[in-house]
Amino acid sequence: ARQSHIRNFSIVAHIDHGKSTISDRILEATHTVTEREMQDQLLDTMELERERGITIKMNAVEVHYQANDGETYIFHLVDTPGHVDFSYEVSRSLAAADGAILVVDAAQGVEAQTLANVYLAIENDLEVLPVINKIDLPAADPEAVRTEIEDVIGIDASEAVMASAKKGIGIPELLEQIVAKIPAPEGDLEAPLQALIFDSAYDSYRGVILTVRVKHGIVKPGDKIRFMNSGAEYEVTEVGVNSPHAIKRDYLMAGDIGYIAASIKNIRDARPGDTITNVQRPAAEPLPGYQPMTPMVYSGLYPTDNSKYNDLREALEKLQLNDASLEFEPETSQALGFGFRTGFLGLLHMDVIQERLEREFDMELITTAPSVTYHAYQAEDEMIEVANPSEMPDAGQIKWIEEPYVHAQIIVPNDYVGAVMELAQRKRGEFDTMDYLDANRVNVKYHMPLSEIIFDFFDKLKSSTRGYASLDYEVEGYRKSDLIKIDVLLNGDKVDALSFIVHKDFAQERGRIITAKLKQIIPRRNFEIPVQAAIGAKIIARSTIKAFRKDVTSKIHTGDPDRRAKLLDKQKRGKKRMKSVGTVDVPQEAFMAVLRAE
Ligand code: GDP
Ligand code: MG
Repeated sequence: ARQSHIRNFSIVAHIDHGKSTISDRILEATHTVTEREMQDQLLDTMELERERGITIKMNAVEVHYQANDGETYIFHLVDTPGHVDFSYEVSRSLAAADGAILVVDAAQGVEAQTLANVYLAIENDLEVLPVINKIDLPAADPEAVRTEIEDVIGIDASEAVMASAKKGIGIPELLEQIVAKIPAPEGDLEAPLQALIFDSAYDSYRGVILTVRVKHGIVKPGDKIRFMNSGAEYEVTEVGVNSPHAIKRDYLMAGDIGYIAASIKNIRDARPGDTITNVQRPAAEPLPGYQPMTPMVYSGLYPTDNSKYNDLREALEKLQLNDASLEFEPETSQALGFGFRTGFLGLLHMDVIQERLEREFDMELITTAPSVTYHAYQAEDEMIEVANPSEMPDAGQIKWIEEPYVHAQIIVPNDYVGAVMELAQRKRGEFDTMDYLDANRVNVKYHMPLSEIIFDFFDKLKSSTRGYASLDYEVEGYRKSDLIKIDVLLNGDKVDALSFIVHKDFAQERGRIITAKLKQIIPRRNFEIPVQAAIGAKIIARSTIKAFRKDVTSKIHTGDPDRRAKLLDKQKRGKKRMKSVGTVDVPQEAFMAVLRAE
């Protein structure tokens, strides 16, 4: 009987369309948190999420809703991120849900990640409830958005909830629709336990905490459980739900979403995607897991202090538990020492991981510029994967290079189509198709090198469309390109961590830009430092860092002691993020200089 009163759903949308605010309203309307506890985007608990105002991690909470039929329903709600880099979080949460609430901004309409996320929900056979949010905005056009959802996505939106999460409009109706339209979980209470791990986190007291969807059976403290893929066995110490604080339960049963703790210390035993079963009465087969995500970009992570190498490995392992898309393996750099080549789903993901390593694990890092994985062919059937540009063999040793291409879709108002096409062309894009979403907006598709997208395409796209364009992409394969490696020499020595790969047509210009940039970034010494960019033995650009003279702060002719203190403080922090490479001190910023276009 309890099972028929459970509703499991995810909230999906393009970034900023109001997922987290709708979650807030649901928590309030169901009295899950007290008025005193309530704050905006309550489920965005990570410090970084609050600072940046974005959701990075999915969050599963249980709320209890007393419906108009007089019955009390148990909702397990999963708020998800909207940014393309975190789509793995979305797909994992959808595998645990029976329905999805699709939020669309009434002023902006369907955007690139609206499409990407709703298709994930449809692929998972989920019931999709459309919600048109922000109807309070002066620019809102809910009826047009309703038509757009029907025409572009192809789902029935005739009963779409018209909402303003900000003003609390439409929330009662949404809660009723959840009860009426999202199916109750099906699952056999009597069957052997099968619980899908869809998220996990490390807790220093309780070990690994697993977030699971119980598909069949029941699990309770004292049970001996087995991870069907890793084979590891543990005894359950605690089960419960987050609401939003952890609440212990006597058991979790088929249909429930909750957490399991089992004093798991070995992080590798308990990967998201694995199935938990009971040792005494095991299930025959694991549940289908997740498609593993292949990282899009790689960068080198190095501790500023070489003795912290093992700490960094441990931190990465713990973070990997909470971020199933993170990948890393050891690498060595002549310039930077021992570190890890780390794979990310995109630049925002990379940025978030670096910040989390610094904040949550107290690491101080030097990170090298992100790079895609190239395929270098030495013969037709002899290919090496190169995720670190410095490892690209010299031109004479390879026949050709291939690079990853993406299929990109850009949704943009009519007026900016020209600007988008010009930009895409400049970034080596190959036009595919163009479809009108309605009278004013267009979905333009291009084939583009992934490296151009990560370089500065998104920023340029936003600035050339006054912020109106949205972008989504997926890797479609490798193509042959005319690429070459550029090495950077400081004081005559090649610095491996500064090598990068570019298209031949951009080589000269990028060489010039990087030498000019490094000249600004690298601190002066008491001798002259030549900065050179080279292709093989051929120098293509150079600049010179003049010998050092004065203290930086003496140049500030201001009586403001505050500003001086701030500058000194910044200098001090900057200094920490410095690596001595031969006789030259190279600050963190320098390793990212290749990302700058001008
Ligand atoms: P998410 O990225 O989808 O989780 O979006 P958030 O819930 O973080 O909301 C993004 C921004 O839109 C925040 O500044 C919210 O305050 C604002 N917002 C959310 N819902 C509404 C609404 O109904 N009306 C208006 N005017 N703003 C809203
Ligand atoms: Mg959010």
